[in-house]
Amino acid sequence: MAIVEQGFDVRRFGDRVLDLFLPPQCLACRATIDRQGALCAVCWETVDFLASPCCGVCGHPFEFDAGEGALCAACLDRRPAYGRARAVLRYAPPARDLVLGFKYGDQTYAAPAFGRWLARAGRELLAEADVLVPVPLHWTRLFQRRFNQSILIARALARESGLPMAADLLVRLRRTPPQGRLSPAARRRNVQGAFAVRSGREESVAGRKVLLIDDVMTTGATIEACAEALFEAGAAGVDVLTLARVVR
Ligand SMILES: [Zn+2]
Ligand SMILES: [Zn+2]
Repeated sequence: MAIVEQGFDVRRFGDRVLDLFLPPQCLACRATIDRQGALCAVCWETVDFLASPCCGVCGHPFEFDAGEGALCAACLDRRPAYGRARAVLRYAPPARDLVLGFKYGDQTYAAPAFGRWLARAGRELLAEADVLVPVPLHWTRLFQRRFNQSILIARALARESGLPMAADLLVRLRRTPPQGRLSPAARRRNVQGAFAVRSGREESVAGRKVLLIDDVMTTGATIEACAEALFEAGAAGVDVLTLARVVR
C-alpha cells in the first residue's frame, strides 16, 4: 500500500480530518494559521518559554546564571517536598489563554503540541524517570469537566517520550476549596492529606522514580501534597513537570 511506504502518520491524518471541519487556529489567540496544533508567529514571539538558568529545585527562572544547582530564596528558606520542578511556559498571556482554553474550552487538540514541548523542557527529568503520574482531579470535578487535562498532557508526553503513564496510582481523597487568594502556607494546609496512593497500588510506586505531570504550578502546594503521598508509599524520587508555572 502506497501510504504505508510513504510512512503513514496517523496524527497528521487526524489533523487533516480536523482541517475539514475547522481551519487550523493558533492555540492561544485563534488566528488562522497553516497547520493544526501550533502557535501563530505573533504568539510564538510573545509566549515566554522558560529556560536555564533557573533554580535547581523549583525551576524559578534566574536573570543571571548563578552556577549549577543554585537555589532561589524561597527554596533556600523552605525546601519543597519534590526533587526538581520544571515548566515549559511562564503563566502569563498569551500562554495563560493557551492553558485555560485547553482546560475549560475543550481545545484538547493542543495536547500533541504540549507533549512535544514538555518532552523538550523536561529532557533531564525524563531521562531519570520510571513513570509519568498525572495529578488527579476529584471525581466530582471530573464529572463537571468531563476530562482531566493533566491526564491528556501526560498521555501526549508518554507518546513523545516512550515512558509509561499511570493515571490510576494517585487518588484525590477530597475536593479542596479554590486556592485563589490563599497564601502559600494556607495553600499547603488546604491540600494537606488530599492525595494518596490508591490502596493496593503501593508496589507500583515503591522504589520507582515518579515524574508528576500537571498543567499549571502556582505555589507548588498541590504538587507537594502529591509528592508526599508518593514518598509515603516508598517512591525513590519525585520530580515535577508542568506545562506552565506562575513566576512572581
Ligand atoms: Zn496566536
Ligand atoms: Zn526555587
